[in-house]
Order: sequence, then C-alpha cells, then structure tokens
Amino acid sequence: MFEKILIANRGEIALRVIRAAREMGIKSVAVHSTADSDAMHVRMADESVCIGPPSSSQSYLSIPAIISACEITGAEAIHPGYGFLSENASFVQALEDHDIAFIGPTAEHIRIMGDKITAKDTMKRLGVPCVPGSDGGVPTVEDAKVVAAEIGYPVIIKATAGGGGRGMKVAKTEADLEVAFRTARSESKAAFGNDEVYIEKYLQRPRHIEIQVFGDGKGNAVHLGERDCSLQRRHQKVFEEAPGPVITPELRAQIGKTCAEAVAAINYIGAGTIEFLYEDGEFYFIEMNTRLQVEHPVTEAIFGVDLVREQIRVAAGLPMSFGQDDLTINGHAIEVRINAERLPNFAPCPGRVNVFHAPGGLGVRMDSALYAGYAIPPYYDSLIGKLIVHGRDRPEALARLKRALGELIVDGVDTTVPLFHALLEEPDILNGDYSIHWLEKWLAEAFA
Ligand code: ADP
Repeated sequence: MFEKILIANRGEIALRVIRAAREMGIKSVAVHSTADSDAMHVRMADESVCIGPPSSSQSYLSIPAIISACEITGAEAIHPGYGFLSENASFVQALEDHDIAFIGPTAEHIRIMGDKITAKDTMKRLGVPCVPGSDGGVPTVEDAKVVAAEIGYPVIIKATAGGGGRGMKVAKTEADLEVAFRTARSESKAAFGNDEVYIEKYLQRPRHIEIQVFGDGKGNAVHLGERDCSLQRRHQKVFEEAPGPVITPELRAQIGKTCAEAVAAINYIGAGTIEFLYEDGEFYFIEMNTRLQVEHPVTEAIFGVDLVREQIRVAAGLPMSFGQDDLTINGHAIEVRINAERLPNFAPCPGRVNVFHAPGGLGVRMDSALYAGYAIPPYYDSLIGKLIVHGRDRPEALARLKRALGELIVDGVDTTVPLFHALLEEPDILNGDYSIHWLEKWLAEAFA
C-alpha cells in the first residue's frame, strides 16, 4: 500500500480523498494555488505545496508543477478528484514516465472514452445500447442532412471532444440544421480546439441514468447500480438520487450486467460511470466518465462502500474488497449540489462566508470545504458543498433532505439552497416524475 498520496484538486473532493487516505493510514499531500493558501484542503492534509498563481491553467492544471510537488514530498501516487486533470491522458502518461501511480484508469482507457465517437464505437462493439445517430464524425452540413433525414428530427449535434454540456446544439427541423451544425462546430473549436461533431437522435423525454462500474484492471468488474441525474440546468446536474425512481430490479440487473461485462472486457481499472439516456424502457449510451463522479456519495450511501478507498486499493495493486454478490441496495439516497450562485440567474457569488453551519443527524452527510471566515475565491467552480441524505426509502430521504436543508446555514454569500426548498414542494419531484428537461421548463416558469 502507498504511504503517501498527493491530491491534485481542491475543495470538497480534495477533503473527500484526504478522509479516505487518513482512514487507510496513508499520508496526504495537498497542492494549492496562491488563491487557496487558506483553503480547507490545505489545512486538512498532512502536507501542502503551493503550485502556482490563481489561474487553474497555471496551478491545478499544470502537469510539471504537480509532478514537482510529488517529487518534493515523496508522494507515490496521485488522486485527481474530478475535473481538472482527472481525464487527461497526457497527464497519466507523464506520471507513468515519472514512476508515479495514478489513482484512476490507464491513459489508454481515458483516451478511448474521452473521444466520444471512439467511446460510442467501443461500447457498441461491447454490446452496450447506443443512441441512434451518425457512424462517426459528420464533416459537412450536407452529410448532417442525410443522417438527420435517416434518423428523423429532432436531432442533436454534439462535439466529439465535448464535456460539461458544451458544444451541443439541437435542430428541430431541417431548417435549423445549418445554424445548429455551424454553432456546435465553432463552440467546440473554441472550447476544445477540435471542431469534429457527430449527430444523435434528440430524445424528447428521457431520464439521465448512469451506471457506476468498478474494475480491478485484471478482467474483473462489478456494477453498483444506477443514479438518476435527470434534474439538470444547462446539461449540468443539480440533484441526484439512487436508486432511480423508475428503474426496476430487473432493469438494473440487466443493464448493470451489460456495463460490468463491457468494462471487464477492456480490463478497466478503478471507478467509472457509464451514462445513458433512458426512455420507454430502453437505455441509450451517451458517454463514459473515467473518474470519480461528483455524485458518487449517493451510491456509497445505498451500498455502504467507500469508493475512494476502493480506488486507492486497486491502484496499489490490491484486489477489490467486494464482489457483485456482496453488493446489495439499502434504502434511498439523494444529493443536492449547493453552489455559491445568486438566483434567478445563477450568477456566481464568491465572497466571504461569515457563518457556516452544516446539518447533521441520522442519514445526513455534508461534503464541503467551507468554514466560517473562509473567502470563496472567484477563480474556480461555484460548487461549495454537497448535501447527501440517506433514508430507508425515497419518502424518508425526501423528508430528511428538507429537514437538513433547513439546518444548513451559509451566511455571507448567496447559494442555490432556495432552489431545493422550492423543488421539494413540487409534486413531480416528490413523485419522482421528471425528465432531463423538467428543471429548465420549471425554471423558465418559476422565474418568468
Ligand atoms: P457532456 O459530456 O458535455 O456532459 P453528454 O453527452 O454527457 O455531454 O450529455 C449531457 C446531457 O445533454 C445529457 O445528460 C442530456 O441532458 C443531454 N443530451 C445529450 N445527448 C442527448 C440526446 N441524444 N437527446 C437528448 N438529450 C441529450
């Protein structure tokens, strides 16, 4: 087992990894930008290294600075968290060259899944159901018209290199296609330096259902059921739950087995998430994330496992501590993402937090790097905490969420907490009756 690991991240996810390491008797090294000198992850780690100025490109994304921090501190492995370098194949390659272990999959797995067309082809070959669409990239508007006519409108144009909901445009009819195609291409070029796009059928009322998988890199893999992350704003998740309100044990067993077999077949190592759109009993693969997800705690809650501990174990060459038969679902869990943002426009709202009080009690977990007196810097993502609740069933989890949200105090900055109070009054939310378009529609009406 490793004696010391470095966490190439900040905020709540850095704390999450430090906590797992500490329980395993592993020393932790935090890295931070000059804007984060007072951040909680720096205080909580055993050691810390300043790796650059506030801008992420010169700090949390700087591969040479992070490798140097490893060499200075003698850390043997790096946990990347999510975002930043977590899905950067060149980073993983550079670590291999420096003999530093990466707590995550291989550079090759990241490369395959990072290119959405290759990912889709691979999944198709492995027997995973995909959204109908183009076979590979679509170079011209004329080609796009041919594919769209075949699969039928509406269609969605997506960036091959896409991520974070960027570079996606919907065309309702052929008249919209040209503009959608050109916009998706130019957005993709600007965001990812690659203007290749592909086309998929645009599903009208799907749910976003993702399957958590875990592999040991030696051909063994399991699935840990699904998370329903359909409540999204601008293709970004805000509320996630497990198990999914509409997924039956039979559906779960079937899609879970398909996913576990697919990742076993490619000797996948570590945690991964296979994302699907789900409509009328059918699953359609959209992408695979080769890292720990923000919403992993809902899965941890219902299965009673520590996914970060497991990631560290397999990266150190140990076997997984559970097999498929050891994994049974217990109750229901919900996570809400709390951002420092001002409603109704969700404008980022960094600044000093005067008072912070985290909710507690049975079945409540608050993953946050806030503390009273902390100044949220303006340079990074606005996620300031995740509130996760666990109950024996969905109604109990919902009641607990409402109770816990009532206890939470973040004074000094605006947050998205009022959004969740309002959502918990909505019959559709209470009934679990929502698709990926529900929240945008509701927001448009609520804040009209
Ligand atoms: P990203 O990597 O940018 O997050 P995804 O492919 O995971 O992109 O898609 C993100 C979200 O966009 C999905 O959760 C869904 O809300 C929407 N979306 C993607 N593809 C489709 C589709 N074919 N039909 C309808 N909605 C889609």
